[in-house]
Amino acid sequence: MRVRFAPSPTGFLHIGNARTAVINYIVSKKYNADLVLRVEDTDIERSTIESERSIMDDLRWLGIEWTEGPDMGGNFGPYRQSERFDIYAEYTKKLLSEGKAYHCYCTKEELEDMRKDSEGKTTSFEYSGKCRHLTAEQKAAYETEGRKPTVRFQVPPNEKIQFDDHLKGSVEFDSGNIGGDFIIVRSDGVPVYNYIVVIDDALMEVSHVVRGEDHLSNTPKQILIARALGINVPEYAHLPLIVGSDRAKLSKRHGITSVNLYREEGYLPQALVNYLTSLGWSTEAGSEIMPFDEMLKEFELDKLGKSSAIFDFQKLKWMNNAYIKQLPGNELAPLFSPYIEKAGYDINTIESELLNGLSELLKGNCEVLSDIKAFAGIFLDNVCKPDDEADAMLNEDYAVAVIKAASDIAASLTPENFTDFLEMLKEKSGQSGKKLFMPARAIITGRLKGPDLHRALPLIGLDRLLQRINFCGEKYAH
Ligand code: GLU
Repeated sequence: MRVRFAPSPTGFLHIGNARTAVINYIVSKKYNADLVLRVEDTDIERSTIESERSIMDDLRWLGIEWTEGPDMGGNFGPYRQSERFDIYAEYTKKLLSEGKAYHCYCTKEELEDMRKDSEGKTTSFEYSGKCRHLTAEQKAAYETEGRKPTVRFQVPPNEKIQFDDHLKGSVEFDSGNIGGDFIIVRSDGVPVYNYIVVIDDALMEVSHVVRGEDHLSNTPKQILIARALGINVPEYAHLPLIVGSDRAKLSKRHGITSVNLYREEGYLPQALVNYLTSLGWSTEAGSEIMPFDEMLKEFELDKLGKSSAIFDFQKLKWMNNAYIKQLPGNELAPLFSPYIEKAGYDINTIESELLNGLSELLKGNCEVLSDIKAFAGIFLDNVCKPDDEADAMLNEDYAVAVIKAASDIAASLTPENFTDFLEMLKEKSGQSGKKLFMPARAIITGRLKGPDLHRALPLIGLDRLLQRINFCGEKYAH
């Protein structure tokens, strides 16, 4: 069994395509299949090598490993379509010589006119086949005019195209309903996706094409080409689309859609892979957090969901937090570090014990790794200036009473006893519950949300605690 992932390098890896890649990877692992990475870069104006690199980078970051591709070679290369033009040209010659394709000299303007004529008709525009039977003289006349022909595939009439899709079941098209003879080579000599994808899949011996449902309508054209060339038609599995909460195709207006941005915000690849796999698929037990190996055991291609899946940004965040919480502080520390740097701290000056400790204590507060920026100061600043919420609360009478109690205790705090600060504060202020802990949290951290205070105090240290009590005393309780 051989599968492939075939990105077009015209931008960043889109989350929908990442899902296709993830599913292909799982298929390759589950069924011990080869996974080919093929770069579909025939859109010469929009394809860039930077995009190819960033897509590969993001795939690697997700943990996807391919067994053949432009970076590593393989027995079925080259793996960039732009390097395979000679191969396609041979097939085009064959189709032309067998009368299964023909040169079309219609200009853009002529085609536009035909399109206009067809407006208002019930069926959608279909190329008339005008150039199908040009004589040698007509062709020569066009050529002397300087017209550059396209190559059109001659769609056979009344041909049934049926295939059993692994997810959609039996799918049937009629050759009369696919838009007429379609272009397979543009006038600049560049062959089009719908044509060469068939050749590549056959030559690369791809046995199963697993891709997004947006390609379902291309499939009949691709099958007709394969039949005309007498080459293999692979099996298909068309994955249901990922949509936004309004059921429209997932796009930027729903939220972030490119993998590199998820990476930048601090999603863990394990969480993203888990979430993408869980879209439209669930295990018998219904467990949501599924480590890759476990998921692999239960995965079956034919059991993937058949209807479109709504991308739930909140759920992904929740899942990411669950994955963050699974990691111990010392493993999180290097993951948090870039974000702590971004918040303005010099990571090299932070002792590893402190870094590991704060990572452990703050992991519950971080849905994404970058959330650490809002909390790191609790452990790294000398004084935590209260944020707006904390400020409003600290102005309340009950809070002022707690601040006063804290100021009274301050002189008696020592390196040995300061970790009992909360108990001492309770006794001194005579307050308890929220009215004690909210002001205490605000005094110590400057925020109303954050880590467990008992566990945080030893890491914050006596010196900082005293500075913070002092700061609040002067600001709110003088
Ligand atoms: N290059 C196509 C795309 O990025 C993939 C085509 C296919 O999977 O057949 O949409």
